[in-house]
Amino acid sequence: MIQSPLIPKPLAYIDGRWRGADDAGRATIAVINPATGEQLADVPDLGAAETTQAIEAAARSLGQASSIAQRHDWLRAIESALLANKDELARIITLEQGKALKESIGEVEYAAGFFRVAAAELDREEAEQIPGTIRNAKWTIRHVPAGVVGLITPWNFPLAMLAKKLAPALGAGCAIVTKPAELTPLTTIALWTLLEKSGLPAGRANLVIGQAAPIGDTLCAHPLVRLISFTGSTRVGKQLMANVAPHIKRLALELGGNAPFIVFDDADLDAAADALMSNKFRCAGQTCVCANRVLVHEKVVDRFTQAVTTRVAKLKVGNGLEPGVDMGPLINRAGFDKVNRHVNDAIANGAKRAFGNEPKVPSQPWGNFFPPTVLTGVTRDMQISREETFGPVIAIQTFANDAQAIQNANGTPYGLAAYVFTHDSDRARQISEQLQFGHVGVNTGTGPTPEAPFGGMKQSGFGREGGAEGLLEFCETQVVATAT
Ligand code: NAP
Repeated sequence: MIQSPLIPKPLAYIDGRWRGADDAGRATIAVINPATGEQLADVPDLGAAETTQAIEAAARSLGQASSIAQRHDWLRAIESALLANKDELARIITLEQGKALKESIGEVEYAAGFFRVAAAELDREEAEQIPGTIRNAKWTIRHVPAGVVGLITPWNFPLAMLAKKLAPALGAGCAIVTKPAELTPLTTIALWTLLEKSGLPAGRANLVIGQAAPIGDTLCAHPLVRLISFTGSTRVGKQLMANVAPHIKRLALELGGNAPFIVFDDADLDAAADALMSNKFRCAGQTCVCANRVLVHEKVVDRFTQAVTTRVAKLKVGNGLEPGVDMGPLINRAGFDKVNRHVNDAIANGAKRAFGNEPKVPSQPWGNFFPPTVLTGVTRDMQISREETFGPVIAIQTFANDAQAIQNANGTPYGLAAYVFTHDSDRARQISEQLQFGHVGVNTGTGPTPEAPFGGMKQSGFGREGGAEGLLEFCETQVVATAT
């Protein structure tokens, strides 16, 4: 079982109080280390009744309005607490999620950045006046808190995906009910230990742990919840849209991707290969922004494949807590099976395994380490090109000209992230303008940053996280016309 000063007890947090399964007569859910199978904790399996209590507590907390200065102090206190507890938070992330410890440390720093940026954006926030007199009135535009908001997050970045929502939501003056992923609730509990000391009033930030359906359905249906911000699969995003439709509730959806990584024949191939490595193997390829389709100009495909395989061969796979490990296991057997299915489908349809051993299915449910793999001869119609693989596989396709590259890249219902590698800045600009993706990297494989808005187009969702737009997501715009 996990021993951590940040998790005195693995409990939920409602209305300023820690809540266990016993308090509510509920069962518990076991949290398992995906690398070792160790049982880390039993967390309460709460449901609709506790979610309703959390929503009502959140609404009560809004009875006491918070000043911008107060919210600014909360955000700064949380940022400092995250950074002061970086190593312990990182250890907890790796224990329950499996990623390499160095990545978990990066995740804590990245998460802290959202509190820093939300605080800075608050400093700039002031009511806007429309100049002059229109219709004999003075017009003031201001951004008021959306109210009670539900935050639902996935398991791949248990801290960062929540920080992107929590920081702007608190900054905007909202009250929060959070539901973390069932597989990774411990990082969230550790975060709440820190939140408790940040001066937030009771009920302002609630943590409900349990199964998705009763908690999600209650958030969707309860009239006091004004907005749900969700990060996860497109499948669940569609379900949430249907569930909130009868209640006309706002949604922000950060959903799945199918990122193209386009390498033109004039690109610096070594720089592109380096960028692909950090982009693709972070979190064992289980990120929404990682390259799912690597599109390489046919003239340079052999050289690029060589550059990539040399690098992949150096990756060390293992328990993320062990020194020198670059990549941990996949989160569970379902994830492993999906990646395996995609690789087998590609090979059955003519792709070649340029690097990587045959994966061995473990005899126990945990330890789903998938060997880093490079496939060549991949085509658009293969499963691995059409669906998000969420695993450590580089799937290389070729193209003959710019038009083909763009058509292939955009030929997906998803529109989250895309990457372009070329020396020609005009070409880079023209291509990036034609790409239907919310985030485009030019000669870089970097994902989002707290300072800039990030989000998807098409079936990758709507709404933005980060920067000023991230804060506005949790506000309603109110216009006051005052007679002059
Ligand atoms: P998921 O299965 O959709 O789950 C995400 C969250 O939704 C979890 O907390 C899950 O709870 C909850 N959930 C499931 N069913 C629900 C329901 N009916 N009502 C309310 N909540 C429900 O996704 P995942 O497997 O955790 O995450 C992987 C996906 O997230 C990938 O598609 C990835 O691309 C996407 N993602 C997108 C972004 C982005 O910024 N666009 C970032 C990261 C990940 P349980 O855990 O209890 O099932």
